[in-house]
Amino acid sequence: MQRTEPGGERKLRVGIACNIRQKTKPGGRRKTLPDEEAEFDEPETVEAIRQALLNSGYDPFVLEASADFQEKVRAQKPDIVFNIAEGISGRDREAQIPAILSYMGIPYTGSDTSALAVSLDKHLTKEIAASCGVLTPASFVVKAGSNIRAGKIHFPVIVKPNAEGSSKGIGDHSVARNMEELKKKIAEDMSSYREDLLVEEYVDGREFTVGLLGNGKNTKVFPPMEIIFRKKKNDRKHPWNIYSFGVKQNYREYIDYQCPADIPSGISKRMMQDAKKIYDAMGCLDFARMDFRLSADNRVCFIEANPLPGLAPGYSDYPMLAEFNGISYGSLVPEILSAALKRYQMKADGKKRSGKPASGKISGMDPEWGDWKWQYRNRIRTVGELSEIIPLMEKEKRDISGCLEKFRMAITPYYASLIRPDDPHDPIRMQAVPSEEEMTVTPGEMADPLNEEAQSPAPNIVKRYPDRVLFLVTRCCAMYCRHCTRRRLVGEEDHAIGKREIDAAISYIAGEREIRDVLISGGDPLTLSDEKLEYILSGLRKIPHVEIIRIGTRVPCTMPQRITPELVGMLKKYQPLWINTHFNHPRELTADAVKACGRIVDAGIPLGNQSVLLKGVNDDARIMKKLLLGLVKARIRPYYLYQCDMSEGLEHFRTDVRTGIDIIRKLTGSISGFAVPKFVIDAPGGGGKVPVNPDYIVSLDDHKVVMKNYLGKTYEYPNRNTEKKRREKK
Ligand code: SF4
Repeated sequence: MQRTEPGGERKLRVGIACNIRQKTKPGGRRKTLPDEEAEFDEPETVEAIRQALLNSGYDPFVLEASADFQEKVRAQKPDIVFNIAEGISGRDREAQIPAILSYMGIPYTGSDTSALAVSLDKHLTKEIAASCGVLTPASFVVKAGSNIRAGKIHFPVIVKPNAEGSSKGIGDHSVARNMEELKKKIAEDMSSYREDLLVEEYVDGREFTVGLLGNGKNTKVFPPMEIIFRKKKNDRKHPWNIYSFGVKQNYREYIDYQCPADIPSGISKRMMQDAKKIYDAMGCLDFARMDFRLSADNRVCFIEANPLPGLAPGYSDYPMLAEFNGISYGSLVPEILSAALKRYQMKADGKKRSGKPASGKISGMDPEWGDWKWQYRNRIRTVGELSEIIPLMEKEKRDISGCLEKFRMAITPYYASLIRPDDPHDPIRMQAVPSEEEMTVTPGEMADPLNEEAQSPAPNIVKRYPDRVLFLVTRCCAMYCRHCTRRRLVGEEDHAIGKREIDAAISYIAGEREIRDVLISGGDPLTLSDEKLEYILSGLRKIPHVEIIRIGTRVPCTMPQRITPELVGMLKKYQPLWINTHFNHPRELTADAVKACGRIVDAGIPLGNQSVLLKGVNDDARIMKKLLLGLVKARIRPYYLYQCDMSEGLEHFRTDVRTGIDIIRKLTGSISGFAVPKFVIDAPGGGGKVPVNPDYIVSLDDHKVVMKNYLGKTYEYPNRNTEKKRREKK
């Protein structure tokens, strides 16, 4: 059943669950109402979704939501289902297919059963909206066989079937101007739709819709699109401007669409905020649309929620909204799928991390997921928390506990979400999760291999070169990397230096006039607050002889949420400022990480990368090439590749030095020169960085240099030792 690319890579199998619109009812019966299947999809829509998924590298196939849906799923074995099925009948019908999929443990796109079941009840949805402080027209529900209790409602009113979508049962004929018309209308609709009816005060104003895409803090809220009714002279058929099923079908005749709508920014913002409030309150997932009307006195009124909006290309409002906002249909469909894959901790390459939604902290569904302080607060620090994310045998739990007595663990939920839980050799896991091998200290390993403590002329300062210092401002990191050189420090309790210590270090630097370059490090300086960081930067910037300030940070890789517009806005005030970050594996270059790095570069701050060569993580030229090309694409300049230091407990990460040299040899000539980092060993004992790159020189004398190129071919270059010749002439 699993299909593979010619290269052997498995494609993700995506079933498209749908109800396809039929010309006649099963058994050849004619449809009784013109909009009976208004919610169902045309075969062209299903095909467009299939094509968009196919073009994005997935293996899509149609799963029609018929009575034997469960059997089809069992037979076809989708990895995930792209759900647009409306279900068959009843006010829970949109939730039926998601309920079956949940029961079978199959992930699916879009909102879950609860949100879909609730949203189909228009009155209940309005109550939820009102409970969030969103304004919605007064309304009441008429139940079959009960009397009308209009209460304080004002005419005109609009009567809608309470549990239908796609404007079903709604048109200009639905508006009642007085009680007599209302009673007549209710009697008609009751006999046609046989369900509860919503009677709502009619808002005589402009109509808008707002689209949402994604989850939590990463939800995109599109600006409102206006549905503009083209007034036709003497159009008695459409006196009330109702965006009905009939009008939608003939939208070219009746409607103009405009996005962003021509409304004051305050009104637009209010609509977007209200849309997000309702999206969150209802627990909508991946994508949805919210409809509004604007009253004559400019009040934003919520009308309806659509957690399963239509996706007919060139027809439905949602793809139109996306298109207005630069997202083509071909991108929109895979974006919806990506949002779901992210929630389920699944990878688009077909390697499923878990058949069920990732639990708790790392599900990506917490509304605060995009907030770095939430990420930092919720780091995984105990074996118990870890075992909720990855399966751990009892022995592993004991080993990790033993390890934690010496070296701390902290993994941001974001970084933990990148771990493939079923792979004990996953390169992301290896960098984050302790292993028993860390407890073995081999000969030659040291607590402080770079002799930083002996080279510290003042507290929190390391001075190895005459014109540069290292300023250690904190011992805290977003994640405690298992291969950390300074594990002797960051292995202790979280500790950032105080104001007095900062002042003392800055006054030391101010007194040493030869220092022109300060590298702020730790720990990770970007775990400090913006205010504290600015205090340090402004203090250093006041020193005339400090020309360059650099920051070493792994935060763009382990907690990219930290790179906020406010942070980069502050940093750019202290130019010239350079940042070096630390990516070791191409899978760390996620969309979030690339976006964070883009923010730094867009602020005019040069961004470099230092990787550590780690056995089992990146000691392979193909992996390294993918990483380096990814870095360059993200506008990050590869700077150093470090041989793993001689810190205690890192023997299992260390490679033969020749491995690094060989990787650089394979990369040289195969990718652009500026994408190849310098391979260095930080000399034990504090000798500084020593380049250990492949040697291309065969011989060199006063006459010529004989060298080999990256293909191993030999070339000669004449050597003109002009100084020697000048001396000989004399
Ligand atoms: S972020 Fe840097 S200092 Fe912190 S643990 Fe990782 S390697 Fe060490």
